[in-house]
Amino acid sequence: LNNKIILGISSCLLGENVRYDGGHKRDNYICDTLVNYFDFLPICPEVAIGMSIPRPAVHLVGEPNNPSLVEAENKEKNYTQLIQQFASKTMDDLTGISGYILKSKSPSCGWRRVKVYQQKDMPFHNGQGLFAAILEKCYPNLPIEEESRLNDDKIRENFIERVFIYKKWQELTSKAFCKEAITAFHTQHELTLMAHHLFSYRKLGKMVAAIDQPLETFYQQYIFHLMKALNHTATKKKHANVLQHCMGYLKKKLSPIDKEELQRTIDNYRLGLTPLIVPITLLRHHLNHYPNEHLNLQSYLNPYPEELMLRNHI
Ligand code: SF4
Repeated sequence: LNNKIILGISSCLLGENVRYDGGHKRDNYICDTLVNYFDFLPICPEVAIGMSIPRPAVHLVGEPNNPSLVEAENKEKNYTQLIQQFASKTMDDLTGISGYILKSKSPSCGWRRVKVYQQKDMPFHNGQGLFAAILEKCYPNLPIEEESRLNDDKIRENFIERVFIYKKWQELTSKAFCKEAITAFHTQHELTLMAHHLFSYRKLGKMVAAIDQPLETFYQQYIFHLMKALNHTATKKKHANVLQHCMGYLKKKLSPIDKEELQRTIDNYRLGLTPLIVPITLLRHHLNHYPNEHLNLQSYLNPYPEELMLRNHI
């Protein structure tokens, strides 16, 4: 890729020695694979507010939905305001990113299930790092994940797919755009939507067919619903239904033997005997011989660089 997509990231995941203990949390998948496809914008909120390396460990205390960030051994040392001020100030610099990978469990960067300590009791595991909370609030449509969750093949694939779609949306809306451009964008992602959330596929289809608001209002609602829909997991069953739907477009063109083979490949995928890449590759092969205007537009068949091999594992 020439113009690589930019992802925000917790600095320690890139191997930077910024943690409280002077170490890092280098993530191999990010540093060895994703680095070939994305540029990273590293941010360490704790170092950015002037905390030293090494430094005393901090954690969250108080109400899980409105916690404070304090030193674990000295509750009087409270960094809540500093981190929140830094996060708010930094948000304007993030308009160019198309996703964010956060360090799990961190009281500053953790996105989900971060420990929040109470007076004496065991901590709750339902907090959110202070920087992560402001990031999500300011960019509700931005694809966000934690490095630990990216070890799950389905979550990893889902995150990368969302990043590429979000990037395309950013490009579309960075220029003067019109109703036709939104319709074209929507058409490209119809099968993807179908694979994630059938209800949203229908709902967004109706919304686009009847755009009746000023585009500025419409496009905000559209991207909100689209990204929400893509958060739903695309299961084997849903993918198999989409593949079956695709096969419908080619039915009249394929020979009986080719049809049977494609059907068997879809069934094998549905049964968990082959990964998604197998029926997708066969479909693309047939589309090379029998181009279909609608299917050829679909980003579902080519969502991201194939070398990422994400569909070899789901
Ligand atoms: S988790 Fe966040 S605050 Fe902690 S070291 Fe990593 S980047 Fe810095």
